[in-house]
Amino acid sequence: MQRLLDGYARFRTEVFPHHSSLFAQLARGQKPEVCFITCSDSRVMPEMIFQCEPGQIFPIRTAGNLVPPPGESHSGVTATVEYAVKGLKVTDIVVCGHSGCGAMKEFLERKHVDELPAVHAWLRHAGPSSKWLRGLFEQAGDISPEKQLELLTQANILAQLNHLAQHSAVAEGLASGTLRLHGWIYDIATGEILSLDTDSGAFLPLSVEPEPALHIA
Ligand SMILES: [Zn+2]
Repeated sequence: MQRLLDGYARFRTEVFPHHSSLFAQLARGQKPEVCFITCSDSRVMPEMIFQCEPGQIFPIRTAGNLVPPPGESHSGVTATVEYAVKGLKVTDIVVCGHSGCGAMKEFLERKHVDELPAVHAWLRHAGPSSKWLRGLFEQAGDISPEKQLELLTQANILAQLNHLAQHSAVAEGLASGTLRLHGWIYDIATGEILSLDTDSGAFLPLSVEPEPALHIA
């Protein structure tokens, strides 16, 4: 905890005064263009990865970057997505998974079902396709745990994009062409991002050129 307090002291005395005009401007409101949905994992820092300042990324963080489908009335994610799209009018939503995801690992291994009941209740939002994949791994028996995790992390991105597209605010944005969705995976060891290419269904290195719109059926 002391790490945070020391950082706060440095922020107040060194960082904030240096950017005071930016913070004065931000105090009047925010206009982020991108809603970035990623895992709560402490190793994933979108602002550092994309070199963004405060006000540029509207973040949603959940265990396993899961986005419950609509109808989950108690989900804060639904409300936050709605606000991002309808209130802030973001033009892009990224669902970004990452390597070595603890939530995905637990979904695969189910090692702590009794100790982590809330986690497992939440992990049901990994969706039927992820469950199907897990069953396939159990039957195949010869796929390494690392490869299983990698494939599940990819399948989960597809599942979450599908959930996201079912939300009414998102569906409207996609239909009117004012909103684009992106599926990415961040590799913690290399810093590289792979992006879902909907034509091939493959995850390819993220191009720094503008991405085409993602069509979710
Ligand atoms: Zn994670």
